[in-house]
Amino acid sequence: MARQKHKPQRMCVACRQSQDKKSLVRIVRTNEGVFVDEIGKRAGRGAYLHADPSCWEIGLKKSLERALKTSFTEQDLERLLQYQNNLSGLTMTETDQELASQE
Ligand SMILES: [Zn+2]
Repeated sequence: MARQKHKPQRMCVACRQSQDKKSLVRIVRTNEGVFVDEIGKRAGRGAYLHADPSCWEIGLKKSLERALKTSFTEQDLERLLQYQNNLSGLTMTETDQELASQE
């Protein structure tokens, strides 16, 4: 039977736009804490954010905790902020990079 292919769509919890799963980053809540799920296969309650620092900023403030039904520990937040920083690194200007390398 010919069935129409359905691409998995996921919603970014920050800006609420649905998108092809590939352009979103999965964050998962496990027994050990909240992690960025790079391979998208970790078991646990998951939520999605765009690979965009501005969505992370909104998401980390409140919507992500709500979506995952949890409160972030300091370690969770540190991990997530680190990921967010890596995202902003991709769009760094040359001046930013110079400043960063002086640290
Ligand atoms: Zn978004």
